[in-house]
Amino acid sequence: MEIAIVAHDAKKKEMLEFIKKNKAILSKEGISLIATGTTGSMAQDVGFEVKRMLSGPLGGDAQIAGRVAEGKTAMVLFFKDPLGKHPHEPDINMLLRVCDVHNVPLATNVATAQMLLQAIDSEVK
Ligand code: PGA
Repeated sequence: MEIAIVAHDAKKKEMLEFIKKNKAILSKEGISLIATGTTGSMAQDVGFEVKRMLSGPLGGDAQIAGRVAEGKTAMVLFFKDPLGKHPHEPDINMLLRVCDVHNVPLATNVATAQMLLQAIDSEVK
């Protein structure tokens, strides 16, 4: 199962705490991680195996949206900054929309991300 992780700059610290806390689930054999560029390199730095897309502002969110549309990505954990302005707002909205179009589980905050991972924990080997 492919899980995508995206964290806006203001949420990268929370994202790191979240993935470290959930390392046991996220490192399972049945899970592969993809992420936008900077998010992915931060996750790699703390020991995760992650396939990195482009950085968000350069099209990384759009790449992930493409994978969701193709049925490759099965869950999106998007640690979104609701207070900041982002140059790639259209891409962000596209990713959210494509998840809804394809009925793919999407978390936009830590609390929901936690619930989604708990929901799949027992199903993934
Ligand atoms: P980043 O992109 O992981 O490359 O910072 C995230 C985003 O801003 O969408």
